[in-house]
Formats: sequence, C-alpha cells, structure tokens
Amino acid sequence: MRQVEIAIVGGGLAGSCAAAMLGRADHEVVLIDPNPVHRPDFRCEKLSPSQIRLLRRIGLESLVLPHATRNSDLWVARFGRLVDRIPVVQYGILYQDLVNAVRAGIPERVPVLAGTVAEVKPSGDRQLVTLRSGEEIEARLVVLASGLNWALRRSLGFTARRLSPAHSTAIGFNIAPLERSRFPFDSLTYYGEKPRDRISYLTLFRLGQGVRANLMVYWNCDDPLLQQFRLDPEATLCRALPGLPALLGPFRIIEPVRVRPVDLYVAENLDQPGLVLIGDAYATSCPAAGTGTEKVLSDVARLCSVHIPRWLATEGMGAAKIAAFYADGRKQAVDRNSEQAAFALKAVTVETGPAWQARRWARFLGRWSKGLLRRALAVAITKLPATHIVRQIGAAQLRK
Ligand SMILES: Cc1cc2nc3c(=O)[nH]c(=O)nc-3n(C[C@H](O)[C@H](O)[C@H](O)COP(=O)(O)OP(=O)(O)OC[C@H]3O[C@@H](n4cnc5c(N)ncnc54)[C@H](O)[C@@H]3O)c2cc1C
Repeated sequence: MRQVEIAIVGGGLAGSCAAAMLGRADHEVVLIDPNPVHRPDFRCEKLSPSQIRLLRRIGLESLVLPHATRNSDLWVARFGRLVDRIPVVQYGILYQDLVNAVRAGIPERVPVLAGTVAEVKPSGDRQLVTLRSGEEIEARLVVLASGLNWALRRSLGFTARRLSPAHSTAIGFNIAPLERSRFPFDSLTYYGEKPRDRISYLTLFRLGQGVRANLMVYWNCDDPLLQQFRLDPEATLCRALPGLPALLGPFRIIEPVRVRPVDLYVAENLDQPGLVLIGDAYATSCPAAGTGTEKVLSDVARLCSVHIPRWLATEGMGAAKIAAFYADGRKQAVDRNSEQAAFALKAVTVETGPAWQARRWARFLGRWSKGLLRRALAVAITKLPATHIVRQIGAAQLRK
C-alpha cells in the first residue's frame, strides 16, 4: 500500500495548485484525478490582476502566464456608449490550459494518479483512500478538492447548505467581427441595459488568436431568452443589448456555445477528522462576480503555507486541528466577500423599483465620471514634463 502524508482528491485548479505547492515544500503528496491531462471544461477563462498577484504569491504565476493571452486595456460600456477605458492588464486563458499549466509545475516526485476515489475511511490518525481500481493509499490527511462532485462528500457525511439554487448562468462562446479584421479593444465589459432582461454583463477578451465572450445572466434553464439564445445567439444578443452593435459593428458568434447554470452552496458538517475541503468542494461562487479563482487560490495558500505545516508537526489529525482552517480569518473574509458579491451583483442587475433604479444610475454615473476624469488625466500627463518618474506616477493614477 502506498503511504503518504497528504492525498489530494481532484486535480482541478484547487487540487493541482495544492499538489504543486506541497510538493515544492517537500511534503509526501499524491494527487488523484480521473484525467492525467485536464479535459476542456467551461470555467474561469480570464485572470484579473488580483488573481495574478495571488498566483505570484504561491509561486505559480510564471507557469501560467506563458499559456495566457495578455489584454492590456479594458473598455467599459453601457447603452451603446463607451463609459471608461481602463489601462488594466488581464489574461485570457482556457480553464484546461490553466490547470494543465499548474500541473506542469508539480515536482516529478509527486505521483499524479489517473483514477477516481471511490471511498475514504477517515480516522483521527491515518486515512484510507480506495480508488475504483482497488488501489489503496494511506495518508495522514486527505484534501478533498473534488469540485462539484457530491457523491464522495455525501458518503463521508458532509452536507450542503444551498444559498441560492440556479443563482446565475454563464454562457461562453467565441465571437468575431464581420467587416473588420479585429475589434478596436483588447477587452470589453458591456453591462445589461434593462433589469427585465436579467443580464449582468457581457465580457469580451482576447484569447489566443480569437476573441472569447462570457455572457453572465440570471436566466433559468427554462427561460425563453435562453431558448432564443440557443436558436439564434446573434439576434438574441442584439435584441437584449440594443446598444451593442453600435460598438462592435456586425459580428458573428462561433459555435459551440457553452451554457453553465450555477448553484451557490456551502458545505456543512465539517467537523470530521483527517479530511479538509477546499475550492468548489467547500463552497461554490457566482461566475458573474468572478470570485471563484480568488477563493480557490486563497484556500490553497492558507492551507498549504499555514495550516498543513502546523498539523503535520504534531501527532494525529483530529477534527479540532482541521477546524482551524475553516475558522481562518483570512479564508473567512474571502468567502464572505465572494458570497456578498454574488448577491449584490444579482440584486443590482435584476431588482426593479425606484431605489434599485437609483442605485443603477448612481453606478453608471460613477463609472462615467471616473472615465471622464481618466481621460482628462491622460491628456494632462502628455503635457507634464516628460521625466520618467512623473510619467510613471501619472500612469499609476490612470489604472485606478
Ligand atoms: C461556468 C463557470 C464560469 C466561471 N467563471 C469564473 C470566472 O470568470 N472567474 C472566477 O474567478 N471564477 C469563475 N468560476 C469559478 C471557478 O472556475 C471555480 O471556482 C474553480 O474552477 C473551482 O476549482 P476546483 O479545483 O475547486 O474544482 P474543479 O475544477 O471542478 O476540480 C475538481 C476536480 O476533481 C476531480 N474529481 C471529482 N471527483 C473525484 C473523485 N472521486 N476522485 C478523483 N477526482 C475527482 C474532477 O475530475 C476535477 O478535475 C466559474 C465557474 C463556472 C462553473
């Protein structure tokens, strides 16, 4: 029987990052996932500056960026009008490329087993992990990074508290201009125009040689708009966002169109020895709020650099040790922020009534005045004495 300190179940973003970090810290680790190479999956496709900073902090940024496409400006638009142009650097990357890039950074001495975990028998000291193939592994700690798969967690006694079933839907596709060679921006965020359309925003960004689009909506599976979108995506998009064609010009949507509804839940009954949940296995996030990757990376950073070294330093792996991770103040703050952002974004998108209308207009005017200020500052910078330091300070202000 293989014996290790830590068995990681699931090699998505959370499990792969954890395997890379723990392997680099010389722990005895094994990573188990059904697929030796992560298969195409519609998930996070754009990395924000804060997510890049987190990747850098856990030493994985240099693995990921060579596989990503740099987008160095962001247009923000609504009602067919350009509201702001932000010189912010974001990266487009397909989820499987992100995960496979991280997996390439797992040290060779960490075995990556192609298999599915069928059963875990936990105890306060050693955990027995059994794969469907019958292979057994004994580990002091099992990290469950098994994403949305509930079967294994349920068999271990974890339960789910549903925060918001069918909270939002993410739609992903490629898009291309018809009458010009490229769109005039690297990336664009176009906000929904009317609350009744239940569209949070459409975001376009360069990814590889093409342009990727993520449409974030609050449409249920049986929503007529979703049915119409499946039948005729270009016409439905233009109807729901009438100002969009003025910005984009004629365009076409390139199949396949991927549709993923998302439930918000958080795992409960966590008081278990030898087992810790991270990433989506612990709690899901709303794709529109874009907080999932940050949640995954902060879970991994806190678990691998703070808690696991402490846990391994003493005998046993009882539930009291594991509870320290879920009570971690920094983890809790990131989780709270993710949950609040999911509900706040939905409310400001779909709620009707004068108070919400006023809030929407306040957001729009806030963005618009920020854009005006930024443009004025950009003009002022060109007139400043051209010393390097002055330009740098000006450029930093522009990014805010
Ligand atoms: C449509 C969509 C769009 C999103 N967009 C964004 C975004 O724009 N920005 C953002 O920050 N976040 C976004 N997210 C959230 C983010 O992608 C997720 O939070 C993140 O991918 C979760 O990673 P994970 O490793 O926890 O889970 P997963 O990536 O699901 O990994 C779980 C892994 O566990 C494996 N597994 C499951 N069961 C077993 C078993 N029994 N044995 C062995 N292996 C097993 C699976 O094969 C899988 O590889 C989005 C999510 C979705 C669904």
